[in-house]
Parts: sequence; C-alpha cells; structure tokens
Amino acid sequence: MFDWLIVGAGFAGSVLAERIATQRGESVLIIDRRSHIGGNAYDCYDDAGILVHRYGPHIFHTNAQSIVDYLSQFTAWRPYEHRVLSAVDDKLLPIPINLDTINKLYDLDLTSEQLEEFFASKREIVDEVRTSEDVVVSTIGRELYEKFFRGYTRKQWGVEPSELSKSVTARVPTRTNRDDRYFSDSFQCMPAHGYTRMFERMLTHPRIKVLLQTDYREIRHLIPHRQLIFTGPIDEFFDWKLGRLPYRSLDFKHVTLDREQFQPVAVVNYPQTEQYTRITEYKHLTGQRHSQTSLTYEYPTDTGDPYYPVPRPENEALYKRYLALADAQSDTWFVGRLATYRYYNMDQVVGQALATFARIQTRDTQPAAAFVEAAQ
Ligand code: FAD
Ligand code: UDP
Repeated sequence: MFDWLIVGAGFAGSVLAERIATQRGESVLIIDRRSHIGGNAYDCYDDAGILVHRYGPHIFHTNAQSIVDYLSQFTAWRPYEHRVLSAVDDKLLPIPINLDTINKLYDLDLTSEQLEEFFASKREIVDEVRTSEDVVVSTIGRELYEKFFRGYTRKQWGVEPSELSKSVTARVPTRTNRDDRYFSDSFQCMPAHGYTRMFERMLTHPRIKVLLQTDYREIRHLIPHRQLIFTGPIDEFFDWKLGRLPYRSLDFKHVTLDREQFQPVAVVNYPQTEQYTRITEYKHLTGQRHSQTSLTYEYPTDTGDPYYPVPRPENEALYKRYLALADAQSDTWFVGRLATYRYYNMDQVVGQALATFARIQTRDTQPAAAFVEAAQ
C-alpha cells in the first residue's frame, strides 16, 4: 500500500512527490503515461546531440523568490533573457511591440513620447475590455492587431481573438521603450543542465517510486493507495460525464540542420501566412555549442495531447461544474495546468503545488488542533 498515488510526473506531480517524501516521510508512487518524467517541460539530447525540448520552448521566468529558492535545491541556473522576433511584412521585428518595432515597421524615427501619441491616435475605444481582440485594439489599434495578433491567435487557438478571454493576448504587453525582452520578470533563467536533470533530482528519493508508460485509467483499481493527487485533465478523471473540456494541442516538427545557426534569436513568431506559429532554435536557450542546430516548428491542432486549456467563459463554466465534483471527492487533490484548467506558466504550477502541499499539511494538523481546542 502506497501512502500516495500521484498521476503525472510534470511540475505539479513532481513537486508534490518531493515535498511529501522529504517533509512527511510518506511513500509515493508517481506514474505517467508517457515514457519520461518532466511533463511538458521534458528535454533531451536529440540524435545530433543537441539539447531540445520535446514539447516546445520552455523558458523559466518568475517574480517569486520563494519558487526560485525551492527549485534551486535541484538545479543550478544559466542566466537567459528571452527575445522573440515576429515575421511581419517581410521584416523580423521585436515582439512584444516596442519603440523599435514601430520605427522599423513604418520606417519612422519616433521617440517614446511620440510613440505614446501614435498609439493614442490608433487605439479604439472599447467600453468593456472582455476579449483578446478588445485588449489589443484598445491599446494599439486595429492595424497592428491584424499584423501581429489576429493571424497568430487564429492559428494557435482555432478561433477568432474576439472569442477568447482577454487574458490570452494580455500575456503579451506593449512597450513604448526599447526593452525587447519577452518577459519582464525579475528572475529569468534556464536550468543549467536541463529540465529533465532537475526533475531526476527531485524524484530521486528512497520513498518515491516512478512508474512510466502507465495510464491511471488502466491501473486505478489495481494499485492500493491512501490518497491521490491527479494532474491530468480533470474532465478525463470524471470520464467526461459532464462533457468534454476543450484543450488545444500542437504538432511539433523537430529538424536538425547542418549549419551553426538558423535564426538570430531563440524564437521567431509567424503571425501571417505560414501554417506554423513559431520556430524555436534551442542553442540560443541552452548556450550549447555545436556545429549543427536543432529547431522545432509548432503546428496548432485540436487533436492530440492536451497542452492548453482554452480560456473563454463557457469553458470556465464547464470547468466550475467539474470543480464541484472534484471538491466532493475526499482524499483526492487536483493540481496543475490540466487538472485546474488554468493557462499557467511553470512557476505558477510550482506555486500551486507548494500551496497544495501547505493545505495538505494544515489539513492534517487541523483535527489535532480542533481536538486540543475542544479539550480546553
Ligand atoms: P504537465 O507538464 O502537462 O504534466 C502532466 C502529466 O500528467 C503529463 O506528463 C501527462 O502525460 C500525465 N498524465 C495525464 N493524464 C494521465 C493519466 N491518465 N495517467 C498517467 N499520466 C497522465 N511555461 C513557462 O513557464 N515558460 C514557458 O516558456 C512555457 N512554454 C510552454 C510552451 C508550450 C508549447 C507549452 C505546451 C507549455 C509551455 N509552458 C511554459 C507551460 C508549462 O508547460 C506548464 O506550466 C507546466 O509544464 C505544467 O505542468 P503540469 O505538471 O501541470 O502539467
Ligand atoms: N500572441 C500573438 N502574437 C504573438 C505572440 C502571442 O497573437 O506574436 C497571442 C496568441 O494568442 C498567443 C498568446 O498571445 O497564444 C500568448 O502568447 P505566449 O507567447 O504567452 O504563448 P505560449 O508561449 O504560452 O504559447
């Protein structure tokens, strides 16, 4: 009998396995239906010997020092600031849109103050900013929305930006200065030896057993356990009994080229005519030196592994109904991007897992505290 069965060896499951084994001394079986740990953050050396991310580019960034401190127990870091270019009108321009983006796109020489006036003259008045279209057109206007956001978003999500919650495109800010970093968080780094190495160190503990290529749906009645942590899709856990929650997927095309460098930065976005949304060149992320280079093209699709919850009101409403079922489930915890249907970054999932662990600890001390109180 295991104290805990954890479904999913990504960030959510691995953080909880590590905490439970080291802080509570309880036994954990962590399973994953894939053939590896790390979830979507998994990285590995490809046939050419280049470190690549199997599920697209993963850049660690956060403002939470406590999350950095926690993960730093398992990895050293390589400082890395992510920069992205967008292929628009046959030019490669910085995204998020900044002063250089506009000056290069329109062959202008604006200052930051003039750019603010430029945006003010372009932006549309939107009474209530609700959708991913509203948030962009009310900041920079329709022309830039069409060039940089509409096509990318339609490809990525399969719907118009006007059908998605504002939180999606609001992830990408607009700047009037020349800051060309994709993220502005205080901590931006890559695990020095890769994500998988970091996960191996989290999960190497005598009280943790790892079982791969094992689907919870096939073994759920076979492995005795006291408590369960589930990090897969929440609708799947309940056999889709309230209907399917939509998740967006990606097809990844991985290629290796016989040249040292393909593009000037790690990621180039394609918001216009191509079928793919972006191309990632990993050596920029990892700093690896190699005579060849490996790339990933991302083609969005509705079928395949679930990667992205789709933020829109009707999906949130269905998720809330699943959440009610989850809340009624004793001794089962739902954690992570798929199980809580949240478009979370890695640091947010780590934060959510650590918060769940704190709740597990409090729950177990509460009866004792209540007992002491009652006795007084
Ligand atoms: P996952 O990593 O999805 O892990 C869940 C695991 O559960 C999976 O391995 C799955 O196989 C397993 N599982 C599910 N159901 C079952 C079952 N029934 N039985 C057994 N196993 C099961 N975040 C950032 O911070 N920075 C980035 O740059 C970034 N880039 C991203 C790029 C892409 C293309 C994608 C898709 C995501 C990106 N993210 C990024 C988000 C990041 O991947 C997630 O926040 C994080 O990996 C989520 O961890 P998780 O444990 O919740 O889920
Ligand atoms: N987006 C866009 N154009 C871009 C970059 C992003 O329209 O050049 C929109 C798109 O809808 C995307 C969302 O903003 O899905 C969030 O972008 P982010 O880079 O955060 O996506 P992720 O890395 O999570 O796939």
